[in-house]
Amino acid sequence: MTHKTIKYIKEIYGTNNFIPLHAPVFLGNEKKYLNECIDSTFVSYVGKYVAKFEEMTANYTGVKYAVAMVNGTAALQIALKIVGVSANDEVITQSLTFVATCNAIKHNGAIPTFVDVDKETLGMSPEKLNSFLKNQIKFVDGICVNKATSRRITAIAPVHIFGHPNRIDEIVEIAQKYNLKVVEDSAESLGSFYKGKHTGTFGDVGILSYNGNKALTTGGGGMLITNSKEFAEHAKHITTTAKAPHKYEYIHDEIGFNYRLTNVNAAIGVAQMENIEQILENKRATAKLYKEFFTNSEIEFIDEPKHSKSNFWLNAIILKDRKERDLFLDATNKANVMTRPIWKLMNKLDIFSDSYSDDLSNSEWLEDRVVNIPSSYRI
Ligand SMILES: *Cc1c(COP(=O)(O)O)cnc(C)c1O
Repeated sequence: MTHKTIKYIKEIYGTNNFIPLHAPVFLGNEKKYLNECIDSTFVSYVGKYVAKFEEMTANYTGVKYAVAMVNGTAALQIALKIVGVSANDEVITQSLTFVATCNAIKHNGAIPTFVDVDKETLGMSPEKLNSFLKNQIKFVDGICVNKATSRRITAIAPVHIFGHPNRIDEIVEIAQKYNLKVVEDSAESLGSFYKGKHTGTFGDVGILSYNGNKALTTGGGGMLITNSKEFAEHAKHITTTAKAPHKYEYIHDEIGFNYRLTNVNAAIGVAQMENIEQILENKRATAKLYKEFFTNSEIEFIDEPKHSKSNFWLNAIILKDRKERDLFLDATNKANVMTRPIWKLMNKLDIFSDSYSDDLSNSEWLEDRVVNIPSSYRI
């Protein structure tokens, strides 16, 4: 099967050369808008593209406000901060995620708390979240406290892994019962919808990433999306050095960040957004080919979950066990077909050794078996 798979991937990408996991694609006005930036000298924080990019993103995702930032990690750090996460708080997240989710929690001085995921969605399991909260927390003066660590829990940060929506509506419902904020790490899921609504728009705040390997790219970039005017204004304020409005005086009323996206990066983003439908259709067609190819084989293709439309950012398959996984990884990479295992679980990294972990049996099962296969736009 491995040999057949290598042959098939080379066939659908039409090449014998190296096939990356995910390469950027520029189909439209990227060069034109970049030239405009240079010609007008607006290469930095002033210029029309940032506001335009924000407006296009808000319209596309169906939120009232979108705030552009330098990258997805920064957007996530700010999202957690504005919903009230402070030093020594715990934020419930999944151990099956990219490290940036947990870094952003730590950047606020908070500590990630790990609950399990669903095997079908790869995202946080509402059942496991519920049982963690039911068994493991107590209320002290209306504040949710982890019995094992005595630390306050302020927010939940579920992740839409590889662009596949998790069961976010159920997670939000549970969060409300416990008075917890929800920050959706939708860095990977621009263009993914759950029950007809864009991912990142169910919780209090969501974030997107435009890193070079994501479905759409600005070179590097991020976006915070929300329906809360207060959150959006606060996010804009503190990511632009928290300067109080004044004709000429420099008065800064909070410790701010310089997390602005440049006009140059936003110009690429506007051009990418103009072609988002074409990019997503192409990726969906690739996912369909993979799905058909792996049907009735010993390899399982991870399809979009129920009630979802996925952007199929990174296609993923499930191998029989860790040994089969490693054999597959060795053979494909040797044959110039880039494949990667899913991330090592966050609770196994020394940098998060102070975290509480709940039962993570599904996460561990998936860690041993899931592999990403090439998913770039096919020219
Ligand atoms: C890419 C990614 C981020 C961070 O985005 P950057 O723009 O690379 O900082 C955060 N969370 C997840 C799950 C990601 O995949």
